[in-house]
Amino acid sequence: MITERRNAAAAGLEGAGDEIKEVKARQVLDSRGNPTVEVDVWTRSGAFGRASVPSGASTGIHEALELRDRGKEFGGLGVSKAVSNVNERIRHEIIGMSVLRQRDIDMLMVEMDGTPNKRRLGANAILGVSMAVARAAASYTKQSLYAYLETQQSKELPLPMMNIINGGKHAGNNLAIQEFLVEPVSASGYSEALRMGVEIYHTLKNVLKDKYGPSAINVGDEGGYAPPISKTEEALDCIMTAIIKTGYSESDIKLGIDAAASNFYASNMYQLDGKSLSSSELEEFYSRLADIYPIKTIEDPFDEESFEDFASITKRLGSRIKIIGDDIYVTNVGRIKKGIDEKSSNASLIKLNQIGTVTETLQAVRLTKEAGWMVVVSHRSGETDDPFIAHFAVAVGSTFIKTGAPARGERVSKYNELLRIEEEMGNTARIAKIPV
Ligand code: PEP
Ligand code: MG
Repeated sequence: MITERRNAAAAGLEGAGDEIKEVKARQVLDSRGNPTVEVDVWTRSGAFGRASVPSGASTGIHEALELRDRGKEFGGLGVSKAVSNVNERIRHEIIGMSVLRQRDIDMLMVEMDGTPNKRRLGANAILGVSMAVARAAASYTKQSLYAYLETQQSKELPLPMMNIINGGKHAGNNLAIQEFLVEPVSASGYSEALRMGVEIYHTLKNVLKDKYGPSAINVGDEGGYAPPISKTEEALDCIMTAIIKTGYSESDIKLGIDAAASNFYASNMYQLDGKSLSSSELEEFYSRLADIYPIKTIEDPFDEESFEDFASITKRLGSRIKIIGDDIYVTNVGRIKKGIDEKSSNASLIKLNQIGTVTETLQAVRLTKEAGWMVVVSHRSGETDDPFIAHFAVAVGSTFIKTGAPARGERVSKYNELLRIEEEMGNTARIAKIPV
């Protein structure tokens, strides 16, 4: 669909004006204060696109490579090599190409890199260009980015899944589970869903302060609270209390967890809640949680190589719960295919920087959907104020967007952009429903 639309757009609009005139990358900072890549692209007509690249903390081992300088500056985390790869190598190759040829530009960069994980040029260099090209093309065609990228004629906005308690690698507490999310499923529109999540987030602040004292409302990397607790059920109980106190019920708000289980897995055992569990004991644990709490999504319940354990929990809980693969698939078509063959889950998390181009990310979405699986477009724990994924989620008809707590600039930039998109769509805007 997207290719046809591109061709149609190209048929009417292609000409000297759509040619890339200039490309410029620079080093900027992400939300953790680490350097990241920002890229600007101009067309001859004066259209402009800017994009910046996010960065994960609980990264999958099969993700495309984020090129870091490993020098003295910024504790080794500088990205000046990735920046020069854009300014001195990619720039020369794509100047003069039509900004409407996203796929050609992306595949050219993949070819120039020539490695399976983009380690030569860096996925951060390649993705920065890829996203900035999409933005410049949207600007050139005088469309919003979501409309330009749209792969279906849907007017659906994603349901927010909001990470309101942070643990794992995203917080300085002892919670093994990385994310505790609220999902306002009864909302009739996006802005209502956002409001419901915000209200619960603020009630939770008081619940945590009353129970554990003022330090419990410090926040983690994604803006969720990082209370000094170590038990999964204690975190879920606090959220349930906040939901009820705010005036909502279990049918209004569902819960999600992202276990990011690779981070508490070692020597065939999972260390959580003060216990050492085998994979079958961990499956029991999740199943019990799902019986007690209104859990609708479980992300990365097992280690990233455990396709079989993923398949086992999907078989057991998949008729009522979405099992989402993140670190296991890393937005990689080859790994998602393996997951489909092995029935390892019924949903896939989609992160542009796990694979490194807009085109390949769209392919991962397409494959996920063809399998009848649910799509969840996601931010990274290290983000910028770039709201690219808000547009991307709408464009691909993602059921959920996962973009943190409704707090901190880099998280609310996505939530606020979705408010603008909802407004632009007017009364045709609808909110996505979880597929059965
Ligand atoms: C995640 O695991 O889903 C996540 C957003 O965290 P990170 O960006 O650290 O991988
Ligand atoms: Mg995850």
